[in-house]
Amino acid sequence: MPSNSTAATPTATAATASAAASTARGPSLKIALTGGDGIGPEIMDATLALFKAAGVMDAAAPGRAAGIEFVPVEMGRSVFEKGNTKGMTDEAIRITEDCGLLFKGPMETPKGGGGKSINVTARKMWNAFANLRHFRTLPGVQTVYSKAGIHIDMYIVRENIEDTYGGVEHRLSNDMIQCKRLISAPGCDLVSRFAFKTARQMGLKKVHCGHKANIMKMTDGIFLERFKVAAKDFSEIESADVIVDALCMNLVIKPQQYQMVVLPNLQGDIVSDLCAGLVGGLGFAPSANIGRHISIFEAVHGTAPDIAGKGVANPTALILSGIMMLRHIGLLREAAILENAVLSALESGVRTGDFGDPAKPVLGTKDYTKGIIDRLGQKPTTITPVTVPETNPAAPASAPAARPQATQVIRTFTDVVRHVVGCDIYLDTPLSPSSVAEEMQRCCEDTPFKLTLISNRGTQVWPTGSAYTECVDYYRVRFELREGSRPGDFGQSRCVALMDRIAEKFTVCSYELLRVFDGVKGYSLAQGQ
Ligand code: NAD
Repeated sequence: MPSNSTAATPTATAATASAAASTARGPSLKIALTGGDGIGPEIMDATLALFKAAGVMDAAAPGRAAGIEFVPVEMGRSVFEKGNTKGMTDEAIRITEDCGLLFKGPMETPKGGGGKSINVTARKMWNAFANLRHFRTLPGVQTVYSKAGIHIDMYIVRENIEDTYGGVEHRLSNDMIQCKRLISAPGCDLVSRFAFKTARQMGLKKVHCGHKANIMKMTDGIFLERFKVAAKDFSEIESADVIVDALCMNLVIKPQQYQMVVLPNLQGDIVSDLCAGLVGGLGFAPSANIGRHISIFEAVHGTAPDIAGKGVANPTALILSGIMMLRHIGLLREAAILENAVLSALESGVRTGDFGDPAKPVLGTKDYTKGIIDRLGQKPTTITPVTVPETNPAAPASAPAARPQATQVIRTFTDVVRHVVGCDIYLDTPLSPSSVAEEMQRCCEDTPFKLTLISNRGTQVWPTGSAYTECVDYYRVRFELREGSRPGDFGQSRCVALMDRIAEKFTVCSYELLRVFDGVKGYSLAQGQ
């Protein structure tokens, strides 16, 4: 290893380490590398063998002064097993932050025991806010759509760090569990603007926003609203929105109508697996997690424990993710050569067991990869090949964006006038709605607030409700200013005092302030209110 790579940690796998060591030379752009768990090391070895054969790590190539040097880092199961609950060593974190790029295999999430997904941790910790996933019809990959002559070529841009993926969950009563769904205006801005910028670079004509703003009017509502604001700066690109359930149906019926869809995190995760199914399965779904400072490239699929260690995994999704990474750093020539070789191999019927023409032989991971390596320099003939530039138009970035000096606070709305108008208090109690109402009315006597609503699982059960609405042991009670008071006459402390009084008799799980922002209600109505 050259002296400038001695900081590398123990290797994720011996195989990936040796591949990295044998290919690193000369001035280089460093990329942190980890093979991952399950099938990860097998498909990472395949990808590195292909990259090596294509000269991706060579310094002396047309149009570039630097090769790539992969710096192995330790992440995943082996780290969890040593009792490190983050699943990555401090050294791995430091190297990844120094490199600004991480190329990773899939990693197992420990089941139970509170261990968090390392994949989600990495995206969130390093603020890789947008997840770009590409789905397209590939030659040799038979699907109901390819057989019908329907060509799919689309991107999902998934918001990557907010939503329910914060994993902020609590048990609120004997019977009620909560997961908080957090959606911020800056988070929406970042992902929507990324989608439009990417669409512009790719020459796409239309970007859709997928959402559920008809039901979650505030969270999905802000996602849609900020998408519309971003769209104004990209007026040459048509924009439209679609409710996520209709989107799923449309994708199955007429997938070719979409070029790019941007979605909140959970919806984007589900819809993108649906899209993988449209084009032949998870073996063909690459992804890039793009951040301001650190970007992570990985396949959409997981560790495939059912086939791990058998040498049969399909490495295409990871190879295509690596090609996305090469484009990201400006190695357009190498990316095009590799992509043409993949397309050419697929077109010739080279296949692993999870796809392809049953009349053609099934290859293991290594032979499949050799099939691609053998076609380096070739181009597909049944579809338009990727144009290979003579040289790379720009040298790859040699260093990541400057490390932030401190944690940044990002804001969209400032100078908003906010006034308290009441509070929602959440109770753990098995009482009936009318009994809760009697108790709450006593509690708010002599306070600036009156009881205006009780809901259970989001449905109003007081002052009116239906006998058919079954209640569980967790209520929301809403208090609003009495007549004669105006927004802002009383502040948060009066709400806390009311909560204290209620807490003398009830278990208060939490409370939320009711506020108006520039005169607009910052809270939703109950179902049936
Ligand atoms: P999975 O994607 O690992 O497997 C789903 C199915 O697809 C399995 O039948 C598997 O054999 C098949 N499959 C997946 N990739 C394949 C490939 N390259 N070639 C051939 N077949 C392939 O999903 P899972 O079983 O739900 O998850 C397994 C583990 O992976 C879990 O611990 C999960 O948390 C983790 N996971 C990690 C990531 C990531 O690292 N980004 C993503 C998803 C799941």
